[in-house]
Amino acid sequence: MADCSYKLVSRKYKKENTIININGNLIGEGHICIIAGPCSVETRDQTFEIAEGIAKLGLKFFRGGIFKGRTSPYSFQGVKNDGFEIFQEIKKSLGLTIVSEVTSVSQIPQMINYVDILQIGSRNMQNYELLKDVARTKKPILLKRHFSANIEELLLAAEYILLEGNEKIILCERGIKTFEPMTRNTFDINAIPLLKEITHLPVIADPSHGTGIRSIVNPVGKAAIMAGADGLIVEVHNNPDQALSDGFQSITLQMLSKLLKDTEVICNLLHKKFN
Ligand code: PEP
Ligand code: MN
Repeated sequence: MADCSYKLVSRKYKKENTIININGNLIGEGHICIIAGPCSVETRDQTFEIAEGIAKLGLKFFRGGIFKGRTSPYSFQGVKNDGFEIFQEIKKSLGLTIVSEVTSVSQIPQMINYVDILQIGSRNMQNYELLKDVARTKKPILLKRHFSANIEELLLAAEYILLEGNEKIILCERGIKTFEPMTRNTFDINAIPLLKEITHLPVIADPSHGTGIRSIVNPVGKAAIMAGADGLIVEVHNNPDQALSDGFQSITLQMLSKLLKDTEVICNLLHKKFN
């Protein structure tokens, strides 16, 4: 690996872990955060049923895509601006912190009024103009690894954000393309401890996209936490088989409850706080 192609992102530049405080909830060393919610916001009722279930389980972070960059242009593309009102209601009535993906610079002015953490999706990890503009909002950014990017390229994408003076970055391992056809992606467990060694930024894992298989989200998620991840982002649906996107990898609220119980056991073992 070329030494020093990245700077600000490295522990050589900053030794101590960056801890991000969002609405009083901490992400980073010692705090395991679980972000849960549907792949896509579909309707108000669907979103509320999932969000209420998540809040009841004691979670603080809600994910939901409203601008969906789908592989096929014929697939559901998201509710777009109609999602803002739903986010506002969820925040107000359930107090959840909202995570949602921004796919274009033109969405930023509205997004920042409703979304607490701006997600950069895998497909946009190297969209540098988008990265710079999102960085300038000073909002926390969830930066997902491109499915064909190596670890250094992920770190360099984060470097673009840091160079804009925004240090509130959460890196996310979400699986990469390999020759294995039985899973949607291959979750790169190596990336977790290696990133934690190289960078001071929080690192979370996405076992939903990392596997593409509902039944193995739990074990892969747990493995990521054992490997040092600062948290998970998981897709949860009230009716996974009817979901408009990524239903096959979405877990039920019941499965989420089990994942949280398991995660708590691991947190105790690792002496980490479970938010
Ligand atoms: C998502 O989080 O729903 C998503 C589209 O993820 P990724 O960008 O990792 O494919
Ligand atoms: Mn998805």
